[in-house]
Amino acid sequence: MISIALMGASGRMGSAINRYILQCDSIRINQAIVRRSNRYFEQLLDNTSVICRESLTPNSDVVVDFTGPEMTMANLKFCQEHHMAMVIGTTGLSEQDIIQIHKASADIAIVFAANTSVAVNLTYLLASLAAKVMPDADVEIIEAHHHHKKDAPSGTALAIGQHIVETKKQALDDVAVYSRHGNDCLRQQGDIGFSTIRGGDIAGEHTAMFIGEGERVEITQRAITRDTFAQGAVKAAEWVAQQKPGLYGMLDVLGLKSLEAFIKSKQ
Ligand code: NAD
Repeated sequence: MISIALMGASGRMGSAINRYILQCDSIRINQAIVRRSNRYFEQLLDNTSVICRESLTPNSDVVVDFTGPEMTMANLKFCQEHHMAMVIGTTGLSEQDIIQIHKASADIAIVFAANTSVAVNLTYLLASLAAKVMPDADVEIIEAHHHHKKDAPSGTALAIGQHIVETKKQALDDVAVYSRHGNDCLRQQGDIGFSTIRGGDIAGEHTAMFIGEGERVEITQRAITRDTFAQGAVKAAEWVAQQKPGLYGMLDVLGLKSLEAFIKSKQ
């Protein structure tokens, strides 16, 4: 049985992972980490050690982290020092943070996934395929999330863009357009436009549009509950516990990486 240390256990994602793991036989929560000031401290779950970050011990197989950039980077250091595998679901990390994650993956196995939903990862694959088949189409990516979400566009929207530009052998920074306002917003050939919607309790929706002359393809994934991310995170934890050091994504976890590599390599 795999044991995990769950960071941010009382957060929205942490709670969804808690709920899901309680139904699983193959994985258990060894330590649930919450802020010391949290009102659920020491009463979050039955049969689990609920602790604050300072009391974390390296006796779990995998650290599962859905918190915020500052906490995640501190946890990365801890995992590297103690050779613990990690699932990082936190979004909004800086370029510098991502470089640190790459470096740490020389020592430990890390699944780094802006979105752990199986359907979203299928969306990445379909977006790569559409970019290959419709290279001249105008690409627009639209995402919608609940009103608590701080970062925009979502890590998933950026990841969809990243999969598209990798297929087209471009750099996202060269083609991404994050806002349009005023009288000087004419679309340039090759731009990838990002649009953001925030409101209510939307769990997460992403659409990649490939717009040609006279027709368009829209690839849409809608999460109805966070449970889908929680299930993917648990799948990732079970998988990464068996892996050698390296940086992996959900396509690795789902066994789809080589299919995407094939799509990207096709002339
Ligand atoms: P949330 O605010 O509900 O939960 C975050 C938890 O982390 C809270 O319990 C908070 O107390 C804890 N935390 C954050 N910083 C901390 C710190 N410095 N010290 C101690 N505790 C700290 O947020 P959420 O909706 O659960 O999302 C968490 C992260 O996961 C966000 O970055 C979000 O974008 C991301 N997310 C990823 C996926 C995915 O599939 N990868 C899905 C949903 C959300």
